[in-house]
Amino acid sequence: MQGAILVLSGPSGAGKSTIINHASDKIGSYYFSISTTTRPPREGEVDGVDYYFVSHSEFEEDIKAGNFLEYATVHENYYGTSLKPVNEALNAGKLVIFDIDVQGHRLVQAKMADLVTSAFITPPTLSELERRLYARSTDKTEVIQKRVENAKEEIKAISEFDYIIINDILENASHRFATIAQAARLKQSHKELAKFTLNWRNSQQ
Ligand code: ADP
Ligand code: 5GP
Repeated sequence: MQGAILVLSGPSGAGKSTIINHASDKIGSYYFSISTTTRPPREGEVDGVDYYFVSHSEFEEDIKAGNFLEYATVHENYYGTSLKPVNEALNAGKLVIFDIDVQGHRLVQAKMADLVTSAFITPPTLSELERRLYARSTDKTEVIQKRVENAKEEIKAISEFDYIIINDILENASHRFATIAQAARLKQSHKELAKFTLNWRNSQQ
């Protein structure tokens, strides 16, 4: 059986990583797609765990080689999803979780819509997002301001998603995420439906 894709998008600081980590023991086995980025690592981030951190020229080599399922420029840095590990996980029947921006979501929908379930995560208000970005203390003020400005644009894409998760109380948001992950697993691809239909029709003696 082919796997399925769950795309999570939402402004930086919305709580995407926090929710995935909080719910990880409730959603069964899954493969988290580790993105490649030209953004410098934050304190505590580990290469190959949080991201693959590469130079601008290495990223552009990968683009030329056709290694990305999707990539985009976000907050003036490149971010991209490598195709190979995603295909391997899908062929192994796994649920593949992406934490990508709204541009990346559009690109993945354009290529693999029948495998994709999507959720947009946001704090209840813009001011709460700003408060959390400052409280996280991983970015300088100008970086935070850029992220807040970008969030005002990203929220406009909210209606493109199957589900919305308002990350107010973490416990509730995490429960909702786990339910959406279960639904994502149940989505049938066109390929699987075609196989089922063929067998169904051929069952008549
Ligand atoms: P993202 O992965 O979307 O960039 P993070 O998971 O890093 O966001 O969360 C941003 C900050 O908000 C972190 O400091 C995290 O601890 C905090 N946070 C996440 N969810 C909540 C919540 N429900 N209530 C309060 N703070 C939260
Ligand atoms: P951060 O720098 O806070 O880790 O991520 C910034 C933004 O980049 C977030 O909105 C995150 O979802 C997005 N992002 C992370 N990886 C990818 C990716 O592979 N592709 C795209 N399009 N966006 C990504």
